[in-house]
Amino acid sequence: MTLLIKKFGGTSVGDITKIKAIAQIIEQSKEAGNEIVVVVSAMGNSTDNLNKLAESISKNPNRRELDMLLSTGEQVTIALLTMSLNEYGVPAISLTGSQVGIITESIHGKARILDIKTERIQNYLDQGYVVVVAGFQGATLSHTGSMEITTLGRGGSDTSAVALATALGAETCEIYTDVPGVLTTDPRIVPNAKLLDIISCEEMLELASVGASVLHPRAVEIARNYGIKLYVKSSLTLSNGTLLHSKIEPLALKRGGLELTKTVNSLEVLENQTVFSISSLPDRPGIAAFIFETLSEADINVDLIIQATHDGNCNDITFTVGGFELTKTIEQCKLITSQLGGEYNFKTNMTKLSIQGAGIMGRPSVSADFFETLSQANINVRLIATSEIKVSCVLDIANIPKAIRFVSEKFKLSDKQIFINPVFEKEDQPEVRGIALDKNQVQVSFRNLPDKPGVAASICLALAESNLIFDTIVQSERFTSFKTKDIIFTMNKEDRQKANNIFQSLTKKLEGSFIEDGPAIAKVSAVGAGMAFKVGTAGKIFRALANKNINIEMIATSEIRTSCIVLEKDCNQAVKAIHSYFELEK
Ligand code: ASP
Ligand code: MG
Repeated sequence: MTLLIKKFGGTSVGDITKIKAIAQIIEQSKEAGNEIVVVVSAMGNSTDNLNKLAESISKNPNRRELDMLLSTGEQVTIALLTMSLNEYGVPAISLTGSQVGIITESIHGKARILDIKTERIQNYLDQGYVVVVAGFQGATLSHTGSMEITTLGRGGSDTSAVALATALGAETCEIYTDVPGVLTTDPRIVPNAKLLDIISCEEMLELASVGASVLHPRAVEIARNYGIKLYVKSSLTLSNGTLLHSKIEPLALKRGGLELTKTVNSLEVLENQTVFSISSLPDRPGIAAFIFETLSEADINVDLIIQATHDGNCNDITFTVGGFELTKTIEQCKLITSQLGGEYNFKTNMTKLSIQGAGIMGRPSVSADFFETLSQANINVRLIATSEIKVSCVLDIANIPKAIRFVSEKFKLSDKQIFINPVFEKEDQPEVRGIALDKNQVQVSFRNLPDKPGVAASICLALAESNLIFDTIVQSERFTSFKTKDIIFTMNKEDRQKANNIFQSLTKKLEGSFIEDGPAIAKVSAVGAGMAFKVGTAGKIFRALANKNINIEMIATSEIRTSCIVLEKDCNQAVKAIHSYFELEK
């Protein structure tokens, strides 16, 4: 007998007809001889509606009472689905999160799962029952020792399902939803976006802004950590949907630590890098494309790419290459500057240091802690580039032993979690698998910052302390005016106003610096596991944009992701352009 965990989302259980249809799907699977645990969401929009009810009473309802209210949504569905299964003659029983023993942190509204007791479910399964569990909720012991209901955060029933699969030792978990699976991009922008058969958990996390609406990122994180095969499929059709998989060695499940409360999982060090900067480049479409196509024609594999706009009409583009590419790259830079103008500069003996972990997502305090730790070690950070699950910076090689010591201590990383010059298996993965678009961002530049340790830390810390989420951060150096640097980042639109006071006091503290708000922008990110190994992917992405005459405001990359900030008016066009350039519809 196979144990199957099946999760049905809100729209799949939106009305009684749908609930009956789901009961039939479950009945068939049970008939086929499987053991089944079903996890369900609240019907249709009921969580939204419950939230509205609360709002109509209070702008700031008590968090405990809100969890009490919101958790009722799922309780309705488990009872109705179980009744329906019974009508079809299937023995079934419903359980709330606390009845199961889904133990969470005691943070109302966004609790992480610590433990799941399996005895009660296992007992019912042994007796031949289908067990129907309420998603999105758990229980915690209050400081007085009494049981309290918690919720996991919006979209959290995916996380309940994968956590149950982990605790019960199931191999797979199936998430049924109203879309066919994970698509190459948002079908509202590209109508012929294609269904992906397979995607890695890492790629899925990097695609957060398209992916998150399909699957709760914490569910992806659990699947990745414990090696659960996660299927996302439609509850309406019989298609196979998308399989999410991970290559990392699965962790052993530790008591009390199901959802890792750790934010950083690994530290990577890439030694012997050369940083090249080309400065004073014209700011118009096609420049980045020309540079990276030229480098790719010379067969140079570029790692990090950072571009920031300066003084309105000129760009600096900085990139790193392996030390052994030095002579070749110098030749190409000569060629590039002879055609485009500008000047190039390089610095050898640099090292890239990156922290990685799904927990970095949406937690500004992690990058702040990272930079703060480096500044405590008195290390000057030369370049910074971030993605959803990774923060990278480039340092002088001399600082590396100290950096490793400080950072691994700060994030409590064991030797096994530190990777020095990792060699990745070169697999035949697509260089671009999907494209995400994030329109909820504004661009803010800190100009003319002093070039000394602790500057990035002080900015990130100030924002993180007020819980203002910043996203893509880029730090580049200026070669024209000596000894200053610019830090440019994007932040959530709704947070920009709230940051005013913080920015004011920061510019006062960081002498000579000033803030510049950018034009309306959006972030377009191409993600693909093959990108790290193939020469020239970035050049193609920039070419796709240049062909449509789209100017790139800012570039930040990680191994498997290239993000371009473009003007908001160009963003749909940009997604379409990259999608068709890489023929993702095929
Ligand atoms: N019902 C909850 C929500 O709407 C949890 C879920 O559906 O995953 O956010
Ligand atoms: Mg959902």
